[in-house]
Amino acid sequence: MIRERASPNHADRGDEPRIDMLVLHYTGMTSAQAAIERLCDAEARVSAHYLVDEDGAVWRLVAEERRAFHAGISCWRGETDLNRVSIGIEIVNPGHEWGYRPFPEAQMAALAGLCRDIFARRPIPPDRIVGHSDIAPDRKSDPGELFDWARLAAAGIGLWPPARAGLERRRGKAVGVVERAGALADLAAIGYCVAAGTERPALAAFQRRFRQARWDGLIDEETAVRLREVRGLYDAARRRPASARLN
Ligand SMILES: [Zn+2]
Repeated sequence: MIRERASPNHADRGDEPRIDMLVLHYTGMTSAQAAIERLCDAEARVSAHYLVDEDGAVWRLVAEERRAFHAGISCWRGETDLNRVSIGIEIVNPGHEWGYRPFPEAQMAALAGLCRDIFARRPIPPDRIVGHSDIAPDRKSDPGELFDWARLAAAGIGLWPPARAGLERRRGKAVGVVERAGALADLAAIGYCVAAGTERPALAAFQRRFRQARWDGLIDEETAVRLREVRGLYDAARRRPASARLN
């Protein structure tokens, strides 16, 4: 059951609206109530379509057909203005500023159920399910390194390369110039918008999501292998016809 609380912060999606991206956030506030108040405060000019509380309660704040204000300045595969094409979900967690903590199972289960509901209505390809930090790595770190992307993928939501035994032994080992260039090419091919000087935050965003043991933004061997694996999955998903996608 979804609880309704209408936020005044939304707008038209523009001409030829398409909704084919999902952006996951954490609220980064001390309580769910404080987050809901802010997301519904006309002066704050921020919002999201849904909010998932730690106990699994789901709130709808903005209708999916409308543009919510959650992504801000952001970029994925060269595309900007991502609020126009995305659905934003705020996941209650104090965040790095107020006591970052694991996301409870009740919350993850509710989130997975909400995602499946959305996918039943919207053709959102698995390579377009992103965290806020993936699309704004120089500004954002949510939902962060405690968020269980593997659990979501096991529920059919998003892409996750299977764990490979022994990979952690390559953590911290330096890579050469050629490997570094290849790793940055993989990062861009996955979808991260990388410019000169922003490689490190983009790499850290990748690590928070796909190599959560360390998110220093440096390309060690483990990160390079992970980048190659993730790119392979994303390339394969994009080659599949939409009708064959499972999400
Ligand atoms: Zn966010």
